[in-house]
Amino acid sequence: MSTALGILLMALVVLWWWCGRLRRARDEALARLRQQEAITATQKTDLARLAAGLGGTADGLIVLDAEGHVAACNPAAQALADLPEHDCHGARLEELVPWPRLHEALQACRQTGSVQTFEFEEEGGSARTLVVRVHALPGFGAVVGIDDQSRLKRLESLRRDFVANVSHELKTPLAAIKGFVETVQDDPEMPPATRQRFLERIARQTERLSTLVTDLLTLSRLDDDAGRFAADPCDLGAVVREAVRDLLPLAETREIDLQAHLPEHAPWVRADREGLRQIVGNLIDNALKYTPERGVVTVRLSVRAGRIRLEVADTGIGLSPSDQERIFERFYRVDRARSRELGGTGLGLSIVKNTVRNLGGAVGVDSELGVGSRFWVELPEEPGAAAGAAEGS
Ligand code: ADP
Repeated sequence: MSTALGILLMALVVLWWWCGRLRRARDEALARLRQQEAITATQKTDLARLAAGLGGTADGLIVLDAEGHVAACNPAAQALADLPEHDCHGARLEELVPWPRLHEALQACRQTGSVQTFEFEEEGGSARTLVVRVHALPGFGAVVGIDDQSRLKRLESLRRDFVANVSHELKTPLAAIKGFVETVQDDPEMPPATRQRFLERIARQTERLSTLVTDLLTLSRLDDDAGRFAADPCDLGAVVREAVRDLLPLAETREIDLQAHLPEHAPWVRADREGLRQIVGNLIDNALKYTPERGVVTVRLSVRAGRIRLEVADTGIGLSPSDQERIFERFYRVDRARSRELGGTGLGLSIVKNTVRNLGGAVGVDSELGVGSRFWVELPEEPGAAAGAAEGS
């Protein structure tokens, strides 16, 4: 009996000891869980603060917890991934963003812990190119970074087109020059009149190459000067009068009535004189080139509310609405062969546009096919410059 009591007592002691151990283990586990929750909550707050602090960056950032729920995101991410404007916290990212590659990248990142990158090209009008990176966030979840590379892609494609266009434009006159030179070389008995004709053609093609290179250098200088304004006040009236005087002989040979209407006190602008000469000269030259004989070209200068308006109107061939949208692009020409024949490079209007932009102005065209075109340029007036010049003279 006493032995049985002893065994029972012993069993009770062992049970009490085991219960104690279990209680301690449970308390420790609970304490660890609470600590983990506290860390997670702090991390969430920190990440939310970080995402809010990154509100000004153009890159989108989305922080996901271990279950793939959105814990924080910045406004750029909301715009780039079309997330709902109001709170998207707590929602699963794959349900909010329908990009199939995102799902795969998140899974791969969870499994391997390595950074996953993919490019996503939208279809349709806006057609954005987004580069998405998924990084593992140890002890938490993942961070999704979204970089909008649409502008870069567009610039890259413009650059590629530009290089292709330049190469093509250079190749044509070079091939012609090579052909003419070889013909002259191969025929030592060529009559002098024929030889002279070939030499004239070579000279014309060389002139074309030289104009093209000059225009390309002008454009490159304008790109470098973007945003920088030249400092000298210039009398725009004097520049217009000079351009009209220089182009009058061409107008006369084409029997075009070239008229200029300038205000009594012509306005001044802050610009480099050569740039202004290019704007006015290019617009009048084009008007003369694309107006049939016996047409009228009118140059008008006016000032209103501190803005100068230069207009060059013609009674020429005019432009369709779709061409009006594109003629300021580099190398865009409605009729490539006709432009070449008239000595054009397809760069004149882009030089005008870039010069005007560098002067803080605007340029445009109103036109009707078969009726004529009115090119206009608006520039900020340089107040007091005319008075200063008059005093100084
Ligand atoms: P180009 O050297 O070919 O004249 P521009 O850049 O000056 O190059 O002009 C681009 C194109 O815009 C021209 O090829 C022509 O098709 C069109 N264009 C320019 N000015 C006029 C105008 N006054 N009337 C009709 N078309 C014009």
